[in-house]
Parts: sequence; structure tokens; C-alpha cells
Amino acid sequence: MGWETDMEISTDDLDRILAAAAFAADRHRMQRRKDAEASPYINHPLALAHILSREGKISDADILCAALLHDTVEDTETTLEELERRFGAEVASIVAEVTNDETLPKAEQKRLQVANAASKSRGAKLVKLADKISNLRDIAATPPADWSAERRAEYYRWSLEVVAGLRGVSPALEQAFDQAYESGLARIGD
Ligand code: NDP
Ligand code: ZN
Repeated sequence: MGWETDMEISTDDLDRILAAAAFAADRHRMQRRKDAEASPYINHPLALAHILSREGKISDADILCAALLHDTVEDTETTLEELERRFGAEVASIVAEVTNDETLPKAEQKRLQVANAASKSRGAKLVKLADKISNLRDIAATPPADWSAERRAEYYRWSLEVVAGLRGVSPALEQAFDQAYESGLARIGD
């Protein structure tokens, strides 16, 4: 398939990506998303990796691994050292950049996401963009069961502020975010 040569991925990279998916599935195995059906947590990291590859045309294995692992340090017992040992320093570095400091109050964590977005690495910006796309789509289609329309709208407004600092790394993903924002906002306002 000559026209797709730029998308070729080595078997080593494929192996690492699938190992990251299996590792994340194991670490998140007891967790569920907040939607009414309590979907398996792993669906969300898988959605990020899929958004990056299909919509962002990203084939960089470090970025795809980091997307699959992005919530393991924040939400499970996993450490950055463990990620570095298993998946490499670049993957651990991107995950560190997208991990909130959970010792801070929630409102401060949210403020810092806005304040720090622009100074993140390209890999971290791409993972964060995919994270916000995934969460906006989920809030429109399968929202947390107990969220009011106002709370959903508040999350949309905050995400737009974060993404303002992430722009410039992927026109395709920015467009996907803008599309998710516009269609989702119209839907949650109903
Ligand atoms: P949470 O951080 O508690 O929940 C949002 C996060 O949940 C997402 O970022 C996502 O994180 C994860 N998530 C899991 N399942 C879903 C799903 N189905 N759809 C979307 N996201 C999902 O909420 P907030 O971000 O709102 O943070 C709390 C803040 O909310 C407080 O600062 C407070 O000010 C405000 N608040 C507002 C209220 C209101 O009515 N307006 C009421 C209470 C609080 P991940 O990607 O990490 O999985
Ligand atoms: Zn996430």
C-alpha cells in the first residue's frame, strides 16, 4: 500500500502499544466511567488512542502509549518510574505532563490546566487535546448520570479555555475539538 508508507509502524512499536493497552486495562480493571451504564474505564484511554490515530493521523508510538496510559498515574497505584521502566522515558514524561497534582484542591487543579497548557510539549498537547475531545463527546452522548445541564456547560467552557493553550499542534484535532464543542453545546443546552 504505497500511498500509506508514512503510516507504517514497526512490530516493536506495535508490540509496545498493545502492551500499554493491556497494562492500562489491568490497572483500571476495578474502575468505571461516570456514565449511567458505568462503562469500563479502559474504553476512555482506548478512545484517546483511536482519536489520535484515526482523526489526528498520529502514528508516533510514544504518543499513542502515553494516551493509553494517561490516567494510570492519576487514578491507579501506577508510578512514573514503573511507566519509564516498562514503556520508556518519553512515555513517562508525557504522562507526567498530563497528570494533575491530586494534593491540590480540585478548583486549583482545573485552574492550573488552563494556565500550563501552552507550555506543554507537543506530545502532551496532543494527548490533552484527545482527552478533551473524548470527554466532550462523552458528556454530550453518555454524561455522568447526576450532572445538571449547567454543570455540563461549565465543563464545556473550562475545556475551551484549556484547549486555547493547546492549539498549534494539530489542525485536524483542533477541528475535531471545535466540532465536538459546537455540536455538544447545542445538545446539552436542550
Ligand atoms: P470531575 O473532575 O469530577 O469529573 C469530570 C471528569 O470525569 C472528566 O474530566 C473525566 O476525567 C471523567 N469522566 C468519567 N466519566 C465521564 C463521562 N461519562 N463523561 C465525561 N467525563 C467523564 O468534574 P469536574 O471537572 O466538574 O470537577 C469538579 C468541579 O466541578 C469543581 O471544581 C466544582 O467547582 C465543579 N462543580 C460544579 C457543579 C455544578 O453543578 N456546576 C457541582 C459540583 C461541582 P478523565 O479524563 O480524567 O477520566
Ligand atoms: Zn482522560
